Amino acid sequence: MSAGTYAHPARLVLMNPGPVMTDGRVRDALGGPDLCHREPEFSELLARVRHRTTLVAGGDDRHTSVVLTGSGTSAVEAAISSVVPADGGLLAVDNGHYGERFSHIARAHGIRSHRLELGWGNPADPAAVDRALSDRPGLTHVGLVHHETSSGMLNDVAALTEVAHSHGCEVIVDAVSSIGAERIGLAEDGIDWLAGSANKCLEGAPGLGFVSASRTAFEALAGAPRRSYSLDLHRHYLAQEKAQAPAFTPGVPAFYAFDTALSLAVAEGWEARNLRYRGLARQLRDGLEELGLEILLPPEQRAAGLTAVRIPGGWSYSELHEGLRAHGFVIYAAQEQLARDYFRLSTMGCMTEGDIGRFLLVLRRLLGDRDGTTGTRQARTRTGEGGEV
Ligand SMILES: *Cc1c(COP(=O)(O)O)cnc(C)c1O
Repeated sequence: MSAGTYAHPARLVLMNPGPVMTDGRVRDALGGPDLCHREPEFSELLARVRHRTTLVAGGDDRHTSVVLTGSGTSAVEAAISSVVPADGGLLAVDNGHYGERFSHIARAHGIRSHRLELGWGNPADPAAVDRALSDRPGLTHVGLVHHETSSGMLNDVAALTEVAHSHGCEVIVDAVSSIGAERIGLAEDGIDWLAGSANKCLEGAPGLGFVSASRTAFEALAGAPRRSYSLDLHRHYLAQEKAQAPAFTPGVPAFYAFDTALSLAVAEGWEARNLRYRGLARQLRDGLEELGLEILLPPEQRAAGLTAVRIPGGWSYSELHEGLRAHGFVIYAAQEQLARDYFRLSTMGCMTEGDIGRFLLVLRRLLGDRDGTTGTRQARTRTGEGGEV
């Protein structure tokens, strides 16, 4: 694969779970005017973006959001490192890569944590969380992933939050790959801390993350330990809420784009976006099954935005990636323990039925060429370990 092969494609269909394909209006917004972030224009932009972010998180008048320049991980890390008290601890509910990441981030900041390993692709059982918290009364926080992007599993945040609260724990929810396209009830479910990013189901440009919570909770961070300087949520809250300016130089163009993306997200609404993604996912999943390909999770556990698929027999991930990339489709590898047997296809962002239709056509042809058939019997079960032919 040489760089030249891929130079300046007309339009790549991005089936990686973020950054997603964006609306033309979002991309155009990136070219907004040069701006000083300590002038009134940026204060207005910041206030609008924070307000709309709180709306899409399902917050009400009691809630607000702090928008950070950084990726989704920086928002999750800002929350974990800022909210767990010095004598507190975090339960990381781990049914995939991002659940596990909670415990890695806690460890990086010297925060006591316990990793509740449920196994990738297994549901996050509220009863297991209940038992884990009963066994460890010193824990103060529970880290939850809403859409576990490593498998495509949608976890039941409302039920898990209820269990955490029954033990007097706060929840930190990683909603990076769900917010915008799945139901999120900051107010309704009493989520304490919610972290998200601009460039997945909110369809903004990459470069911004955010944390949403109640104003009271942000205020209460005044007494919390300062484990990080640049990811200190209380510092960012004071700057954005009181001084109406960011603590540090923000990614101004990403703010322009997020402002536009949020107005589109609010106008569409999460339900309509969920239906749009689900429609694309259904078309994709039906097509994959017609080709004999196996999908990782049972239908009722799948998020709208992601499908993990077994790599067809006789193929390696990189062969599949290159074959599809040559036709303008970017697929995504699975991580760690799923990497050998699965790959991932996102239905987030400005994707169309036409894109999915063409993808399935190209995939069918690719598999058929290799197999010498029409490509309908590709999911031969792999024989033995590392069964590439
Ligand atoms: C993508 C993702 C992240 C990390 O986002 P980055 O922007 O890559 O830092 C965190 N959590 C989940 C669930 C994700 O899907």
